[in-house]
Amino acid sequence: MPPEDSVIQGLIQLVGPGAVLHRQEDLMAYECDGYTVHKAVPRAVVFPSTTEEVSAVVKFLHQRKISFVPRGAGTGLSGGAIPLNGEVIISLVRMKKLLHVDYENRRAVVQPGFVNLKLTHSIAGKGYYYAPDPSSQYACTIGGNVAENAGGAHCLKYGVTTNHILGLEVVLADGEVVEFGGMPDQPGYDLVGLLTGSEGTLGIVTKITVRILKNPEGKKTVLAYFDRVQDASQAVSDIIAAGIVPAALEMMDRIAIEGVEAGNYPVGHPKDLEALLLIEVDGIIAGLDEQIDEIRKICHKRNVREIKVAADEQERGRWWANRKTAFAAMGAISPDYLVQDGVIPRSRLPEVLAKIDEISRQSGLRIANVFHAGDGNLHPLILYDARIPGQTQLAVDVGSRVLQACAEVGGSITGEHGVGIEKLEEMRLIFTDEELAAQIRIRDVFNPHQLLNPGKLFPTPGRCAEMKKGTQTERGRSS
Ligand SMILES: Cc1cc2nc3c(=O)[nH]c(=O)nc-3n(C[C@H](O)[C@H](O)[C@H](O)COP(=O)(O)OP(=O)(O)OC[C@H]3O[C@@H](n4cnc5c(N)ncnc54)[C@H](O)[C@@H]3O)c2cc1C
Repeated sequence: MPPEDSVIQGLIQLVGPGAVLHRQEDLMAYECDGYTVHKAVPRAVVFPSTTEEVSAVVKFLHQRKISFVPRGAGTGLSGGAIPLNGEVIISLVRMKKLLHVDYENRRAVVQPGFVNLKLTHSIAGKGYYYAPDPSSQYACTIGGNVAENAGGAHCLKYGVTTNHILGLEVVLADGEVVEFGGMPDQPGYDLVGLLTGSEGTLGIVTKITVRILKNPEGKKTVLAYFDRVQDASQAVSDIIAAGIVPAALEMMDRIAIEGVEAGNYPVGHPKDLEALLLIEVDGIIAGLDEQIDEIRKICHKRNVREIKVAADEQERGRWWANRKTAFAAMGAISPDYLVQDGVIPRSRLPEVLAKIDEISRQSGLRIANVFHAGDGNLHPLILYDARIPGQTQLAVDVGSRVLQACAEVGGSITGEHGVGIEKLEEMRLIFTDEELAAQIRIRDVFNPHQLLNPGKLFPTPGRCAEMKKGTQTERGRSS
């Protein structure tokens, strides 16, 4: 039977019946992303296959003043892809081609639904890779990475997504298709930089030109076990202060270690550790042993219990699988968890970790810390049980207090997961009203009627506080 809703009929005419979901049972899968504490059902989900189809769908919705939300794989952790007011979701997952690789100029062109890790897999045979490596890289899309300016373990040395995006094709809020960047050192404003990290509020990215890198000649990976968080944190600062720039410098605390050892990729970390560092150096083989020796010395100075170098690629792979599945592993020790994403100056690590511990004790909720220590990007994982009345709200409040602690030491409320709907109120911790108004004016140039991903990124007076207190459901079960 054809749908009664004329909007859905119109969308079907544009992209075909196999590319529109509109039945309640189909729409439920799209009521949230990785931020599961707030849910809302979309009016429809549309799956365009080409830029022309994206443009036609956006023009159709724009003419009718119907708002819409772009969506990639839905792994976002701040609620950016949630259709707050029953928007139409425009899913980019069918635009998943690797369009072109130019090895000579070290660039590749992908559609937005291309999965991050697939890019490295596609070019590995020629000795190249794509550097930004979010732990969700086996699932998340490069379009979603651009929207969130995603980071990852290896972004300490190589930079986050914005440092690897050379050009974008974008469908604007009225359906116009435009190209930004694409050539080296383009004069004028850096619109590629502006679009990257704009969380789907300025346009829908339909084609991306990325930088690809030649594989480093060699890599060495080290695991260092500590009996005191303070010592591990101090070792992080000392390594950077010694002028070493590791490709990755990751840290896990006791509860995180308990989680990863109970998860699908245990590697046998001792159960009584207080913290571990996973450190990787890469580059020309000749210099690597020297860097490892230096790291060893620093860790010994900071009372390391044990330090070991991965014997081969298999062992290195196991260590990384253990780290990269840390979020999911929390499911083995807690029914639900909320991921936070604060940033602090590295030198304040011990103090902020102590503060997080205090917040945990006061609230009664356990908090695991697993994070990109090298760049001060904390990921406190707040463990809770949504079945216990009030615990979801408590976890949300605890997350807010953690971000406040980050802001108080001159840090930020997000390193890589974005603001979405989760951190709307916390934007006020780091921006004045004038600064927020200036950013909103930029959004309004691209998105004057707020049809594109409304209610995200910037607080609206009254609105976000209300959303944090009460409208989130207790149905949320963490992914
Ligand atoms: C287990 C796990 C581990 C994670 N680890 C990391 C990590 O290490 N580093 C990190 O940075 N993030 C991490 N994340 C968060 C998430 O994977 C990233 O934010 C990722 O970039 C989201 O990509 P996506 O395709 O899932 O986008 P979605 O979740 O679908 O969307 C995210 C946002 O981007 C917008 N958007 C999506 N596609 C487009 C497009 N084509 N044009 C415009 N806007 C668009 C959406 O509207 C939304 O606001 C992790 C998530 C999980 C679940």
